[in-house]
Amino acid sequence: MISNYHTHTQYCKHADGLPKDYIDQASKDGCTALGFSDHCPYPRDERDTWSNIRMKEAEAPEYIRLIREAAKKAPFPVFAGFECEWHSMYASWYKEELLGRFKCDYLVHGPHWVYVDGDFKYAPEIKGADLIKNYFANFVDAIHSGLFSLVAHPDLIMAFGREWNKDVEDGFAEVINASYDCGVPLEVNGLGMSREKVTYSGGLRYQYPVDKFWEMAGKKGVKVVCNADAHSPKDVITLAQKARNYADERGLHYLDTLPLVKKSDI
Ligand SMILES: [Zn+2]
Ligand SMILES: [Zn+2]
Repeated sequence: MISNYHTHTQYCKHADGLPKDYIDQASKDGCTALGFSDHCPYPRDERDTWSNIRMKEAEAPEYIRLIREAAKKAPFPVFAGFECEWHSMYASWYKEELLGRFKCDYLVHGPHWVYVDGDFKYAPEIKGADLIKNYFANFVDAIHSGLFSLVAHPDLIMAFGREWNKDVEDGFAEVINASYDCGVPLEVNGLGMSREKVTYSGGLRYQYPVDKFWEMAGKKGVKVVCNADAHSPKDVITLAQKARNYADERGLHYLDTLPLVKKSDI
């Protein structure tokens, strides 16, 4: 019986299943609390906020409604949230619209992007010390915003086999300090463990979680949460368990019940 606060649905266009399908599977597999955190919509503006991998603004009320509906039959608490990137220009969108108008229960920060030259660039693909610095500055700013109940896959930038270097180490140190200071938990992500491993100079490793990162986070004593990042109902508990196994093997203590940041707390 374990919790999972990182769950997608078919609303993001790259996951299978509706809220009830995840709740049914989690009931079978043994669950203490289930949180939905599908990729958030963004307001229509001149920017390309990756609309191909997320729901539309108009779909958000239905997404929340289906979660509330399915939750009535669940034998455990169910929470409705969104996984959000961060840029300060959308601060009021996250707070007033996602938490406010759509009345979701919590927000997850997914450090997927950095905004540069009018474009959002995907973290695993960014190159160069300046851009990496920029990425981590935005990441730390997200943690300091006080809007997020947890940080998903904090080591995502290492996917695709990036080599560890001083730039990422310095950035990770800042993220870990911000997480510790603000009390925002960092996530060990089960999905990254289910994907094909990557080759780097030290051999084979998971795309994420990344051992060196978790060594640093463990030493600092940040709060840790272990989640699935399920994109298919069958993964909703099994991948969260995988993440727990990773944490157990490294002596990382993790929360099972996550305190959620509500709009009234901000
Ligand atoms: Zn993500
Ligand atoms: Zn996710």
